[in-house]
Amino acid sequence: MDKIYTRFGAPDNVYGDDIDMVEDVERKAALAGLKLIRQRVRHMGTEKCAETLRKMQRYLDGKLETKMRSEVKGLIVEGRKVKGVETVDGSKVFAEYIIVAPGRSGAEWLKAEAQVLGLKTLSNPVDVGVRVEVQAQILEKLTKVLYEPKLIYYSRFFDDIVRTFCVAPYGEVITESYNGVLTVNGQSYAERKTRNTNLAVLVSTSFTEPFKEPIAYGKYIARLTNLLSGGVIVQRLGDLEAGRRSTEERINRGTVVPTLKSATPGDLSFVLPYRYLTDIREMLEALDKIAPGLHSRDSLLYGVEVKFYSSRLPLNDCLETPIKNLFTIGDGAGLTRGLVQASVSGVVAARQIVKREETAA
Ligand SMILES: Cc1cc2nc3c(=O)[nH]c(=O)nc-3n(C[C@H](O)[C@H](O)[C@H](O)COP(=O)(O)OP(=O)(O)OC[C@H]3O[C@@H](n4cnc5c(N)ncnc54)[C@H](O)[C@@H]3O)c2cc1C
Repeated sequence: MDKIYTRFGAPDNVYGDDIDMVEDVERKAALAGLKLIRQRVRHMGTEKCAETLRKMQRYLDGKLETKMRSEVKGLIVEGRKVKGVETVDGSKVFAEYIIVAPGRSGAEWLKAEAQVLGLKTLSNPVDVGVRVEVQAQILEKLTKVLYEPKLIYYSRFFDDIVRTFCVAPYGEVITESYNGVLTVNGQSYAERKTRNTNLAVLVSTSFTEPFKEPIAYGKYIARLTNLLSGGVIVQRLGDLEAGRRSTEERINRGTVVPTLKSATPGDLSFVLPYRYLTDIREMLEALDKIAPGLHSRDSLLYGVEVKFYSSRLPLNDCLETPIKNLFTIGDGAGLTRGLVQASVSGVVAARQIVKREETAA
């Protein structure tokens, strides 16, 4: 996949290859009670990503037929074998093989389809947290070496797993809409740079029996934020710790200029359960030891960030469901959480289909 992305325009530069520097970060992280997940990162940037995908699309033009803006309502299955799909506008498309890749926004739809087909789904954890925004210099030592430092922390009080996710150096905080629910996210451009770096601090929860609706739980918290603020909330860490809401005036006084202008200054403690707030605050204290200044009163917290990791369908090694010739891949199938992994899952399913076709020929 990496070769394919670079062929269509992803940049050559790879972060995380300087082992001495990585080991240095790892050592300092360990002293702060944080575990560094080593990884190599190639950063495309939001605008380059769109460009790369357009080039891929142009390459495929004429080789296959694409139907955009065509929402699939249901899968057509007969005798435990997939036959095709039916779209919302009533048209049917028949095929020997179907690969379903609905992403996170289509995760609930896929779960509902699995229920209709009598397939048992396995619940994934739900990740709830905030997006933290600080001046870029605070994280520069880490982002220069790793681009996206992935750090894990086990909270002292609850022993929950807390992690950094989707670090956006010199990036901006953005909103994201999931079926009408507004959450936060972050992105970096290749060319356009801001003075800030943002990252998600997320707490993972795997609910136990009888609860089986982690997506609904995450959405509930996000909806509560939307209800209170009309969208997303931004709060200075200092205000959160002082037990008061942030106001426009308090944010303006701070040293971090928010990149998401539409966020409403407010109080995240009305939204996030005590457990999550405690975990997040502990994590910020730990991060401050390797990125001094991160745990400061002017650091901005945007809420809420929720990762709706989808339910997993029972799949075999080539990502086929118990319905013959029906494959599910990517984030919507609860298998992946990033671009390259999602792409790899597509290749796994596609190779199997090619193999079957070759055997049949
Ligand atoms: C703001 C943001 C920043 C991110 N940054 C990074 C990053 O830096 N690095 C990284 O690796 N990953 C990043 N990701 C994650 C990455 O985008 C996903 O992991 C990846 O796109 C998943 O691919 P996918 O094909 O599974 O799903 P998607 O890319 O979500 O595609 C699924 C598509 O299916 C469509 N769909 C859903 N239901 C239906 C239906 N019923 N009928 C028809 N179509 C349907 C959706 O509209 C969507 O177009 C980011 C995501 C976001 C939102």
